[in-house]
Amino acid sequence: MPDKNKTTFADTGLSSPILKKLERQGYEHPTPIQAGAIPPILAGKDVVGLAQTGTGKTAAFTLPLLQRVGAALEKDSGHENITRAIRVLVLTPTRELAVQIDKAVRNYGENLTTRSTCVVGGVNLKRQIKPLKQGVDILVATPGRLEDLLGQKIITLDWIETVVLDEADQMLDIGFMPAIKRILALTPKDRQTLLFSATMPKQIRQLSNQYMKKPVEISVSPESKTADNVSQSVMFIAQPDKTKAAISLLQTYKGKRVILFSRTKRGCDRIAKRLNGNDLSAQAIHGNRSQNQRTRTLESFRNGDVDILVATDVAARGIDIPGVELVLNFDLPQVAEAYVHRIGRTGRAGKSGTAIAFCNPDENSLLRDIERIIKIRIPLRAGDGKVEAEPEWDPNKNPNAERTFNHVNPRETEDYVPDSHQGKKQNQSQNQGHGEKRKAQPKDPNFQKRRKKRRSKNKGGAGAEQSSASQQSKGSGTNKPAPTPNKLKKTRRNRPGSRARKRHRAERGE
Ligand code: AMP
Repeated sequence: MPDKNKTTFADTGLSSPILKKLERQGYEHPTPIQAGAIPPILAGKDVVGLAQTGTGKTAAFTLPLLQRVGAALEKDSGHENITRAIRVLVLTPTRELAVQIDKAVRNYGENLTTRSTCVVGGVNLKRQIKPLKQGVDILVATPGRLEDLLGQKIITLDWIETVVLDEADQMLDIGFMPAIKRILALTPKDRQTLLFSATMPKQIRQLSNQYMKKPVEISVSPESKTADNVSQSVMFIAQPDKTKAAISLLQTYKGKRVILFSRTKRGCDRIAKRLNGNDLSAQAIHGNRSQNQRTRTLESFRNGDVDILVATDVAARGIDIPGVELVLNFDLPQVAEAYVHRIGRTGRAGKSGTAIAFCNPDENSLLRDIERIIKIRIPLRAGDGKVEAEPEWDPNKNPNAERTFNHVNPRETEDYVPDSHQGKKQNQSQNQGHGEKRKAQPKDPNFQKRRKKRRSKNKGGAGAEQSSASQQSKGSGTNKPAPTPNKLKKTRRNRPGSRARKRHRAERGE
């Protein structure tokens, strides 16, 4: 790996218009992933880049590709019959990341004649088609929308020279792998393929073996290791106390940029509402919000109009917002790797950051999984903010070591209504969620017995009704099922005030 302090951008082989842009950008030295990846990409080789977020990954592939496309455009410029075609395709898992990469491409290629655009789902297709029709060299896309455009024959991938798969492991998690394989099959076989991923699960390794030619592998950090400049701690808090604890913690971060991660979409909305109700400025971002809302929220957060972004894992990857001082894991993620991506939102570009996780007793196993992959024991943080380091812990020697939960106040979890949005499959204790208090049921020893009896009676009744209804329909000689109340609702004559209703009533003499 080239020494960061000795290597300059000029050493990597980048041309002067790009070097000038980098100088203006204030980049002095290439980051390790840039120093490692730029020369082979310029040489047209396939590259597998194993790098965590915030390492300068985007520039590592954008800069050399801009140079290659620029050179190709220059070569073609003398030929009148050659029209613009998509030469570089960048595939990303999320819409936000696609927009961000497109912005980076335009920014770094300011002094070049290259054209780029971005196509993502959730926004007007017509507006995205216009620049495509005018001709672009670099296309940044999410797989779904790209397949839409390919299906409608609006674009072709016949002239692709390079495909970049960014955040490949997240694309795998989301379930994009079949789409990626279909898309790769539509590109020329002699293309250059670049794959960037924070982790290297087996399926990504297989993908690289199947679709890449002798890739140069660059790994700038051990697998799943979290950024070194993020100070991490964990607080043990019973689930119902988390909101209160978040409010008091975030009061101390007032005016600073914070991302709070919650596991569920509705949880995000609820937490954002509570924070706003406590004189904090928060906005929620998650998959249930429209793409325009998501873009606006990210922009407000980036501009500093909003201090706290309350997000699901939609914002955990790739999103580069400078100056995030705290990442608060309100809930621990179900997949341990997501923790690495979440806390990668802070401590970016050499700055330091803080990551605090709230862990309830039911999340203990999730915490253990996280600690196993990051290979450190996250220090405990007390309510007063003091962080106590725990005794040395070796995950390989004692992987099942459990935490003690002395810090959690015992409380009656049955007093809390579970969040319905968290799904019926999850057990009650996991569901305590962001629950609200409800009145305890009066303690009646016969209550359960009576309820069971009542339910079985109701079931019997309903069954009897059903069978008599089916008999009736048999008797009438038709196979038509009895109309459901829903079906009745939809008929015109059931619409209050409608002419059909009046006519129907008149016919019946009502
Ligand atoms: P990325 O990992 O691509 O999201 O980049 C993380 C951040 O590092 C971005 O804000 C970049 O602007 C910044 N960055 C990228 N390369 C360099 C560099 N060579 N020197 C300083 N900052 C950089």
